[in-house]
Amino acid sequence: MRVGIDLGTTNSAVAYMNEHGVAEILTNCEGERTTPSVILMEGDKAIVGEVAKEASVTQVDDTIQFVKRQMGNPSFKIPLPGSDKMINAVEASAIILKKLVQDAEQELSEEIHDVVITVPAYFDDAKRNATIEAAEMLGLNVLKIINEPTSAALAYYHLDNEMKDQNVAIYDLGGGTFDVSIVNITNNEIKVLSTDGDSNLGGFDFDNAIVDHVINVFEDETGVDLYDDDDAMQELRENAEKCKRSLSRRAKYVVPVSSSGHSLKVEITKDFFNELINPLLNRTKIVMEDTVREANLTWNDIDKVLLVGGSTRVPMITEMIESFTGISPSKELNPDEVVALGAAVQASLIDMGEIETTRQNIIVKDVNSHSLGTITTDEGIEINAIILHRNTEIPCSSSQVFYTVADNQEAIRMRITEGEDTDPEYVHIIGTSVLDLPPGLPADSPIRITISYDKNGIVNVVAEDVTNNKDLGEMVIERQSNITQVEMEKKKEVILAIEVE
Ligand code: AMP
Repeated sequence: MRVGIDLGTTNSAVAYMNEHGVAEILTNCEGERTTPSVILMEGDKAIVGEVAKEASVTQVDDTIQFVKRQMGNPSFKIPLPGSDKMINAVEASAIILKKLVQDAEQELSEEIHDVVITVPAYFDDAKRNATIEAAEMLGLNVLKIINEPTSAALAYYHLDNEMKDQNVAIYDLGGGTFDVSIVNITNNEIKVLSTDGDSNLGGFDFDNAIVDHVINVFEDETGVDLYDDDDAMQELRENAEKCKRSLSRRAKYVVPVSSSGHSLKVEITKDFFNELINPLLNRTKIVMEDTVREANLTWNDIDKVLLVGGSTRVPMITEMIESFTGISPSKELNPDEVVALGAAVQASLIDMGEIETTRQNIIVKDVNSHSLGTITTDEGIEINAIILHRNTEIPCSSSQVFYTVADNQEAIRMRITEGEDTDPEYVHIIGTSVLDLPPGLPADSPIRITISYDKNGIVNVVAEDVTNNKDLGEMVIERQSNITQVEMEKKKEVILAIEVE
C-alpha cells in the first residue's frame, strides 16, 4: 500500500488511491481528515493531533509544534518533554509521521511501506534531506518527494477526465510556508514553468502580527510585558489564531488577555487585521509577479489561479490576487486536502512502474527552486559561481571542468552553494564535497565535476577524470546536518520506542 502524505507546519493529511482510481483522504483514529502537527508528551507516550493542540495552551512545556520551520536547521534542538533527551526537527517530524502512518494503516487494514511526501517547492536541499531522514527513521521507503504546488496541480488534473490546455498559477499559503508555481497543464502533461516562495511565511506570521499588536496594547495599558508570562503568551497565541479564523467570516473579534492581575479585551476589526497583514501579503504579491515573469508569461496568459493551504481562507488574499491579476481565484479544491490528494495520485503513478494512471499516461515535470553553484576565487576574491540556474526542469545537471594545481594532488575540495547571489555571504553553503584523486595525476589534469538535482530536488555531485576517461564516482556532500549511519540507527531506536497515539 502506498500513500501520499502532506506533512504540514500546522496540519498534516494522508491520502491514498482507492480501488476506483479516485484519490481519497484517510481519516485519522479520531475520525478527522487532517491531524494537527503537534506533539504532547505524556511520560514515554507521544500524543499527536487535536488533543496535543488543545493541551499546548495549558501545557506549553509538554508540547512541541511548528517543527517544519526548523527542518534542516542543525542548531535547532528541543528537550523531549518528560525526558532528559534533546530532539531535533527531524525526530519530531518522525513522531508526527509515525502517528499519520499508524492511523492510515488502521484505516486501510494494511501495512504501509512506501510513501510520497510533499514539501514546499521553496524547501532547500537541507530541508528536503531532513524530510527524507524523518521517514527513513521509521523504516519507510520514500518513493518521491514532491513539491506541494505540483501536488495540488496533480489533484486538480485528477478532477477532470478531459483536461484542456491551460496555464495555472498555484498560490499556496499554509501555516508556515508560502509557494507559488506557474504550471502548464495539458491532458497528458503537468509542466511546472517556474516556482518561487518563502519557507518562512504563513498563517503563523498572521497570528504573530495579532500577538504583537495585543502585546503592545497590553503594555501601553498596564505596563506589563506579556513576554514574561509564558502561559499568557501561549493562550494569546491560541486566541490570536481563533481571532484570525473568525475574521475570515466576521467583521470584528475580541481577544481576551490577562496577566499579573490585569485583564483586557482587545478588539480587532477585519479592516485593522488586513492592515496588520498587509506587509506580509505584499511579500506574496511580489513573489507572484516574479514567478510569472520567470515563466515568461503575463497575467493575460494565465487561465486560473488555484488557492491552496489553510491561510488562503483569509478573504483579503482573494481580493488582493484579483486586484493585480484580474483573475478571480478558484476555490474548487479543498485547500486543506488537495496537497495530500495530489501526493496520492503521484504515489499511484509510481505504483505503475511506468508513468501510467488508471486514466492515461501523464508526465509530471518539475523545476528546481534554487540555483546551485560553487565558491571560486577570482583574483583573491571569493565569488559564488552559479552552475545550475533555478527554474530548470529536474532532474537536471551541469558540468564544469576544474584543473588540479599540483603533481600527485591527493584531493579536490568543493563548497556547494544554493542561492542566487554572486556574493558567498548571501547564499547558503549546502556542504563540502571532497574527492580523493587517483595517484599519479600531473598538475593541470582536468577533472569534470557534475552537480545535479535529482527527482526529489536533492543535490548530488559526481566526478570524472577527463584524461583517463574514468568515472571517479559520487562525491559525498558533507552537509552540516549529516548524521552517520550509527547515529541514525540510535535515533531510529529512540523514535521507534516511543509509543505514539
Ligand atoms: P495548512 O498548513 O494548509 O494546514 O494551513 C494552516 C493555516 O491555515 C494555519 O495558520 C491556520 O490558522 C490557517 N487557517 C485555517 N483556517 C483558516 C481560516 N478560516 N481563516 C484564516 N486562516 C485559516
